[in-house]
Amino acid sequence: MSNSLILVLNCGSSSVKGAVLNHHTGEVLLSCLAEKLNLPDAYITFKYNDEKEVQDLSHKPHHTGAIEALMEALAAHNLDQRIGAVGHRVVHGGERFKESVIIDDAVLHDIEKCITLAPLHNPAHLLGIHAAQNVFHHIPHIAVFDTAFHQTIPEHAYTYATPYELYEQYGLRRYGMHGTSYRYIAGEAARILNRPEDNLSLVIAHLGNGASISAVLDGKSRDTSMGLTPLEGLMMGTRCGDIDPGVFSFLHEQTGMDVNQINELFNKKSGLLGVSGVSNDYRMVEEAAQTGNKRARLALDIFAYRLAKYIAAMTVANGRLDALVFTGGIGENAKDMRAAVIGYLGFLGLQIDDHLNAEMRFGNSGIITSSQSPLAMVVATNEELMIAQDSAHLAGLM
Ligand code: ADP
Repeated sequence: MSNSLILVLNCGSSSVKGAVLNHHTGEVLLSCLAEKLNLPDAYITFKYNDEKEVQDLSHKPHHTGAIEALMEALAAHNLDQRIGAVGHRVVHGGERFKESVIIDDAVLHDIEKCITLAPLHNPAHLLGIHAAQNVFHHIPHIAVFDTAFHQTIPEHAYTYATPYELYEQYGLRRYGMHGTSYRYIAGEAARILNRPEDNLSLVIAHLGNGASISAVLDGKSRDTSMGLTPLEGLMMGTRCGDIDPGVFSFLHEQTGMDVNQINELFNKKSGLLGVSGVSNDYRMVEEAAQTGNKRARLALDIFAYRLAKYIAAMTVANGRLDALVFTGGIGENAKDMRAAVIGYLGFLGLQIDDHLNAEMRFGNSGIITSSQSPLAMVVATNEELMIAQDSAHLAGLM
């Protein structure tokens, strides 16, 4: 049996998410999620053949413990010898990483240098990489960066209108996130439309718990809504998105909150959750709105309106629109939101087809606009497969 399976790892500060994929077919053979790491009740859940198994990790509640447990599960299912490479999701690659790379000491050093740009994420990724390298020491490890795809964004789009020295000294600029998803979607959209990716103008809205939008022209990112951090741009589950920076001092003066508290408010207590008071989960907010909850309705209205404004702005970055693409859990499922957004964009000629729109849910990909309209479509994203394909390619397993 060949060693052509890829282990994809996404390590957070208290979690390890893993999946073993066949990078040709996208089939996931085994997946796991370790949670509550560094707490006494840490545990790991494995999914294999649609069956779930939960294992206690309290005796080794850390990244290494989780990855050792994963290795044991792989061995139990005779998968351990079939892994040919490990692909790691890394949130921030700064300006150093414009594409995925095989991890060596220099790469580890540069990921460490990007900690200032992603102080919550990059340290956790490094912990995960070290732990995985110890357990899977005989195969290549690859880093796939969320920011890399956006390194083609032109200077006028990524530079903040703040003193230029701050960019030079601290790297203060817009970087963008969700790049792995955008790269996957750009390829998939071209395939579905049967058009060459290098001659296609897409505006792609990735709407999950975190949400962003990107202008992708001829396969390259031209602009995106997230900035130095994931806070900028669209309204999200718990993030406020674009906001007047003056609100910082206003809140400080009015409430006495300090920078950390305000940061927490904007990142964890705002967005759908903050406005609706119901949940950060789009589906639950939608259910509340349907039963007459006015704040839930308002939250959905803000979400759709802001998204429509951003779609119009992103068409400026590309100069034309061949297709608008919805993806992520909300983009792939929330048909009423898609209809509301396209309703705002009639001036671009966009017109929804209600029947097609209702059909494109639960993993279905395809066009949702009427025949006279410019194209809007739903494409299901698969960041893990993109990471697996990059890893296989760099490890010479294609
Ligand atoms: P993440 O960013 O964590 O990967 P997902 O892409 O899975 O998140 O998206 C999660 C969001 O998708 C949640 O807000 C969830 O409510 C929403 N969602 C999932 N299914 C549906 C659905 N059927 N209708 C509306 N929203 C949905």
